[in-house]
Amino acid sequence: MRLVLLGPPGSGKGTQAALLKDRLNIVHISTGDLLRAAVAAGTELGKIAKATMDAGELVSDELVLQLLEDRLNEPDVANGYILDGYPRNLAQAQALDELLARLNQNIDHALALIVDEEQIVARLAQRAAEQGRSDDSESVVRHRLHVYAEQTAPVVNYYEDKGILTAIDGMGSIDEINQRLCDAI
Ligand code: ADP
Repeated sequence: MRLVLLGPPGSGKGTQAALLKDRLNIVHISTGDLLRAAVAAGTELGKIAKATMDAGELVSDELVLQLLEDRLNEPDVANGYILDGYPRNLAQAQALDELLARLNQNIDHALALIVDEEQIVARLAQRAAEQGRSDDSESVVRHRLHVYAEQTAPVVNYYEDKGILTAIDGMGSIDEINQRLCDAI
């Protein structure tokens, strides 16, 4: 099973992906986590990505595709995976399709979490207080939401056109949302 999980920052993609991966026995691939690990490890790629991430902008398509391709070549993805944070613009959606064609794979479902903007701002403010992520300050959060609306929202239509998109109500308890996702799959 190969899934793409879509939704704005703070929509709960990471939380839900962590639950789905255990339930479906597949791996969770978050490009944000891969990038943060590269930053923490101080790799060349991490050094290039850090300022972009701190500003709430998207890291270059080439860098993220390389990270993703390396990850998809690891053996633990054999049973399937959930992509969280990728693709984030139409060019990435097309690049993913090309990469999957080379790997002889396809995406089974794209799931889009729908959450009110007010709720998102509240959740991210809480995450900022709890985790201190350097891109969770209020002004950067606002910018990330803007980047989402401009660049990532069209990706939802891309999967809708392919006929594999399900929109999921992302408001409610973690368990309720998890159940909706499982029902959709
Ligand atoms: P969120 O979904 O809350 O914005 P992520 O962990 O998915 O958090 O992403 C954090 C940051 O990492 C993004 O703002 C962006 O700078 C970078 N990033 C993650 N995934 C991608 C991607 N696919 N393409 C470009 N940049 C990315």
